[in-house]
Amino acid sequence: MTLIFPGSFDPVTMGHVSIARRAAKFADRLIVAVLENPNKNPLFSVAERTAFLKDALRDVKNLEIESFCGLLADYAQLKGADAILRGLRNSGDFEREAPYAAYNSRLSETEIETIFLPAAPQFAHVSSSIIKEAAAHMNEDRFGFTFLAEQLPPAARAAMQERMKSHGCTT
Ligand code: ADP
Repeated sequence: MTLIFPGSFDPVTMGHVSIARRAAKFADRLIVAVLENPNKNPLFSVAERTAFLKDALRDVKNLEIESFCGLLADYAQLKGADAILRGLRNSGDFEREAPYAAYNSRLSETEIETIFLPAAPQFAHVSSSIIKEAAAHMNEDRFGFTFLAEQLPPAARAAMQERMKSHGCTT
């Protein structure tokens, strides 16, 4: 079974890593696919996001990391994927994901299914967006820094720390 795990991964968090590692245990092949979405304004480039994923998951043998642009249904078909993999943190994620699952099925000739894995409880609150929001106002001495840092794998954490230096309010 080939699974494709698409996402923005801007940047990859321990929540994403947990989903990928758990899925790699039951999939024959897992393709983690970084979405290049021209309508989104990511903090990290596709190349950076891909590099952080590679660093975090390099020990997983049946896992590949790629990037794609365009319709997921087309890309999944191109890669010969049997199903799409997504992680669910809460009911809000499910409500957002359910229509995408329906569209992806109808837009692929193979009627591709979407498989959901629940977030690991210890990462169920972890969100790339909130980490980015908080990190923009952080420094290493600030209370809460460790809490944020622990949610990112090493390469993503280092890059985020570097970015933090150039962030901040001007007023
Ligand atoms: P997208 O912009 O496609 O939602 P994300 O990088 O935000 O990309 O998320 C990719 C996938 O990982 C989604 O299925 C999302 O629900 C899931 N995900 C995000 N954070 C977590 C987490 N902490 N635990 C489990 N799954 C997560």
